[in-house]
Amino acid sequence: MLELRRNGTRRLIGSSGRLYSSGVDLLAELNPEQRAAASHEGGPLLVIAGAGTGKTMTLAARLAWLAHRGADPQRLLLMTFSRRAAAEMARRAGRLLHRSLGLPASTPPPHLPWCGTFHGVAARLLREEAPRVGLVAGYTVLDRADAQDLMALTRQSLGLAQSEQRFPLAPTCLAILSRCVNTRVPLAQVLADDYPWCAAHEAELARLHAAYAAAKRQQQALDYDDLLLAWWHLMQVPALAEAIRARWDEVLVDEVQDVNRLQSELLVALRPQGRGLTAVGDDAQSIYAFRGADVRHILDLPRRWEPPARVLTLEQNYRSTPQILAASNAVIALAAERYEKTLRSDRAAGCLPRLHLVDDEAAQARGVADAVLAQRETGLALKRQAVLFRTSHHSMALELELVRRGIPYVKFGGLRFLEAAHVKDVLAVLRWADNPASTLSMLRSARLVPGMGPASVRRLIDHAGALADFRAPPAAARTWADLVDLIEHLRGDAARWPDDLARVVDWYEPHAQRLHDDAAVRLADLRQLARIAAGHSSRLRFVTELTLDPPEASSDEAGPPHRDEDYLILSTIHSAKGQEWNAVHVLNVVDGCMPADLATGRTAEIEEERRLLYVAMTRARDELSLWMPQRFHVGQQRAWGDRHLYALRSRFIPDALLANFESVGPAAPAPESAAPPAAEPLIDLAALLGAGAPQR
Ligand code: ATP
Ligand code: MG
Repeated sequence: MLELRRNGTRRLIGSSGRLYSSGVDLLAELNPEQRAAASHEGGPLLVIAGAGTGKTMTLAARLAWLAHRGADPQRLLLMTFSRRAAAEMARRAGRLLHRSLGLPASTPPPHLPWCGTFHGVAARLLREEAPRVGLVAGYTVLDRADAQDLMALTRQSLGLAQSEQRFPLAPTCLAILSRCVNTRVPLAQVLADDYPWCAAHEAELARLHAAYAAAKRQQQALDYDDLLLAWWHLMQVPALAEAIRARWDEVLVDEVQDVNRLQSELLVALRPQGRGLTAVGDDAQSIYAFRGADVRHILDLPRRWEPPARVLTLEQNYRSTPQILAASNAVIALAAERYEKTLRSDRAAGCLPRLHLVDDEAAQARGVADAVLAQRETGLALKRQAVLFRTSHHSMALELELVRRGIPYVKFGGLRFLEAAHVKDVLAVLRWADNPASTLSMLRSARLVPGMGPASVRRLIDHAGALADFRAPPAAARTWADLVDLIEHLRGDAARWPDDLARVVDWYEPHAQRLHDDAAVRLADLRQLARIAAGHSSRLRFVTELTLDPPEASSDEAGPPHRDEDYLILSTIHSAKGQEWNAVHVLNVVDGCMPADLATGRTAEIEEERRLLYVAMTRARDELSLWMPQRFHVGQQRAWGDRHLYALRSRFIPDALLANFESVGPAAPAPESAAPPAAEPLIDLAALLGAGAPQR
């Protein structure tokens, strides 16, 4: 219970009746609505509010408040959508907890063992419950690339790769399956709604999905979707569900607008009576429809309980200047379907967001670099500035420019650390050690041994259960024996974590030298991996967590040596969710990039692109710049000479909104006046000028 004294000294009365002085009043910084949410008691609570209104902050305060009232931090489940967001929330809550418990500055805040992503929590739960549900504890988690490999193998073994009518490729097959799982919609309907061009293959797809499931079973492997599905299955068995619920006293969820059907059912299953569930989110920031998220889940959520959940809203935006807020609100106000929210900012006036019209991507890169350096001259650290973009490769020209000028940067949401061949190689060895049934990991490890050709590898599959019986070809004998020794060591009693990783890297070193010209760089990466490994309690946990939530940049998790360095943040918009920076640049705010030309088809997809722009704009506190290159070079078409596509300002910023921005750059004809139909955002000029007669 919270008591607010009128004389200004606030006091918190814990459930034990103990009084806490105002020095530890956890809710003092919150406004009345936030306070009501943080100290809510009773049934389920849902906070739906716009960007920057303090949802995450309120959730962290609630967590600290619960702990302060006696809840055990070990028994609080805190879930969100990315590892970065989870880490940020744990940091904020930890700081508040630290203060509330009156701990000395030298002691670290209490550990929150159950703070993570839905998938991460599922993986951990399954490890612990494995023996009770017929799973080996060392089961392998397949990342997307692994899952695609396995799907491709299965597709081939069923002869679908050779079928007369072109059969969908492995990534498409996997995406279709994933959609069925996450939306819980039958295959026929998913095909009709989302993949009509694959509908003719329904029977084969069903067969393929079954065979893929059998292959995973045989290899004791789960893919990402399986993790959630498995958790869901556990919740259907009353005795298991009861035990799982009993692990936690409270369930708190951030970014709940991005839950899919399966996740929203999990939330209800975790708290069927509703008590002890708090979720916060913003329907205007739902950007994961491609993974089956649907804003309707968040809006329908309250009615999943009887009586329905309490719904609170927050209206004050603390993040952005009134100018940035007005422009962002204007962009989202044009959305076809949305739930009206009023947002106000009490911050002092700032400058208008800028629309920079520039010639091309190179000019954009120079402009952004100039602006970033100019800001730094005024005292704004690089880390407090971010450059956001729709797709990872949109930042290529900028990255070149940054390197050229020696401006350090870290990129999030790009090529993941884990996708690098050398990291995959090392992880394959660790996985194979943990799960002898994992044929994929075994094959990857074996292929590293020189002299192991396809025929030997095929023979190896037959001997998978009894390594000792396998005779490697003479040319490979010695190196093969080294690998077998290593695996046996890792499986034996003498294995120690994180020393095991060092051993695997030592073993890998000569292979890296042989396989890669840039072995030194790759080995440095692996040493970094070893540093990350030291932060995990066991090999199995390390490999699982890394697979689920790989560090997105090689300097992510780099640890203390990098702490003082300053660097610019580059991030995809998806990876920027929930974060904020003082100055934000958004690249390529042109049709074809935003919305992406892939999305020009359906209204639902266009609307998701609009929300993406809204998410990008609302990351900014003080300064916001949207960049619009007019020309894009089209790669490697030498025979055509210098080839360009011309781009138009994003349709999400029509003329009517221009008053919210300051336009910077060459006076160009108003995009709309020269515009072709909006559905065809990029003009392929070379094609228009007579595809049949290219002139050199
Ligand atoms: P998003 O929708 O982008 O995830 P959010 O609603 O989660 O945003 P937060 O990130 O929690 O918002 O808060 C945005 C900013 O506002 C943070 O810098 C936070 O510290 C600040 N803030 C939130 N509430 C208050 C408050 N009551 N007083 C002062 N600052 C606040
Ligand atoms: Mg947030």
